[in-house]
Amino acid sequence: MQTGSCLCGAVRYEVHGPLRPSIGCHCLICRKTSGHYWSATQAACADIRLTENKGLRWFRSSDTARRAFCNQCGSSLFYQEDGQDNWSIGTGTLDNPTGLRTSHHICLDEKGDYYELADDAEITRVQ
Ligand SMILES: [Zn+2]
Ligand SMILES: [Zn+2]
Repeated sequence: MQTGSCLCGAVRYEVHGPLRPSIGCHCLICRKTSGHYWSATQAACADIRLTENKGLRWFRSSDTARRAFCNQCGSSLFYQEDGQDNWSIGTGTLDNPTGLRTSHHICLDEKGDYYELADDAEITRVQ
């Protein structure tokens, strides 16, 4: 079982199933919502249990997806594509140790110009 939370604790969750390797997304929406690129793991909705949700707010970030944040501290937490039964989870909101590694970077055509990729993860140009 893996636990995680926002910065202030007004959102806390547990994951009771497998977590996907973390993927770094460099698209404009991820950069604007997170302040940098967004690295996310993913789990099935059925495996995610919110143990505190008083700060949880969802908003539509595009025509095809919504994102969740904490309305008390601003942490970027979750992402869900319409019709999908899984949530992407901001990997930085998990408690250590995560046991995860970064497997891919995506959407590099929208990458910021101020940093280079410094890990050994595979670079993928799919959306
Ligand atoms: Zn919070
Ligand atoms: Zn993105």
